Amino acid sequence: MRTRFAPSPNGPLHLGHAYAAMVAHDTARARGGAFILRIEDIDGKRSRAEFVDEFLLDLAWLGLEWDGDAVFQSHRLSSFAAAGERLKAMGLLYPCTCTRAEIAAAATIYGPDGPIYPGTCRHRPVAPDNAAWRLDVGRAMALTGPLEWIDEVAGSQAATPEIFGDVVLLRKDLPASYHLAATLDDATDGVTLVTRGMDLFPASHVHRLLQALLGLPVPTWLHHPLLVEADGRKLAKRRGAPSLAGRRRAGENGLAIADALRAGALPAGLSFSQGVHHAA
Ligand code: GLU
Ligand code: ZN
Repeated sequence: MRTRFAPSPNGPLHLGHAYAAMVAHDTARARGGAFILRIEDIDGKRSRAEFVDEFLLDLAWLGLEWDGDAVFQSHRLSSFAAAGERLKAMGLLYPCTCTRAEIAAAATIYGPDGPIYPGTCRHRPVAPDNAAWRLDVGRAMALTGPLEWIDEVAGSQAATPEIFGDVVLLRKDLPASYHLAATLDDATDGVTLVTRGMDLFPASHVHRLLQALLGLPVPTWLHHPLLVEADGRKLAKRRGAPSLAGRRRAGENGLAIADALRAGALPAGLSFSQGVHHAA
């Protein structure tokens, strides 16, 4: 079996990331599997190489050794583009030129990531240059029929990707989006157990659909509780969560921090939430 930790280098890691990495690492070790480190750095505007260097030091400091070399999502853009072409050839993607503001103004339903795309471009001619490409989820589901996926904690789930509406699979500026890249990479990396926070539980509905459409192997999932602030909100750098790098440089003991997380011992002001917290 294989697990992975897949941080995005758009800011420093904090205790919530340490917990996520520990779950992936310890689950792999307990089951005699491999633990992969994948850097999700396709967002060129927000990704910074300095953060990657810190991530490697942070994980070593926590005593979480990964197997093999870290892999970089940005090296795989051509495989994402190829999958996009396949989905286009299947008639499942359509170009969309709507702006965020236009969508917000026209939307009437809200999903896990905010306003649900109202389908404006689905049936109108749009020049494909400089467009994002959306998945026609209704058409895709009609093709695959009902799908299930299994979370080791929450049990068997009927896939309901429609809760996101027609998600963007190829961004205007990039031949991928989080959903497409993460799903393809989990297949490429041979991940058999996708461990990640409860905030990404809803995303697994979309990933299950993409696996069915692209003929990818279907992993099992394990969505773990999130570390939250006293007010129930997810830890975030912008709300002052101390970075692992800062604690490391201040001479704190990373191994002791990892052991405390294993024991469920959290600093004052932090707790675990079992609920689904949607990424803002
Ligand atoms: N790169 C994502 C993040 O840092 C995690 C993706 C995943 O675990 O599927 O939030
Ligand atoms: Zn549109």
